[in-house]
Amino acid sequence: MRRTGSPTYGKRFVGNTNKKEVHDLDNEKTGANECQIDEIINAGNAITFNPDTIAQAHSQGYDNCAHYIGGSTH
Ligand SMILES: [Zn+2]
Repeated sequence: MRRTGSPTYGKRFVGNTNKKEVHDLDNEKTGANECQIDEIINAGNAITFNPDTIAQAHSQGYDNCAHYIGGSTH
């Protein structure tokens, strides 16, 4: 689920600067040990990408989160 407020402003892809993982909010998993997007935001570790694409996230060194389609790349 995309968040319209700060700091993600409705963007689809959100990076966790702590773990260098990128999450796809259109395919977010909300279980206890899954994406934890709100926890990332509350910890101040959420960033977005410009452009808002998975390729841009990868170019900045972010790996897919474990729940992303196709899974982690390493
Ligand atoms: Zn995720």
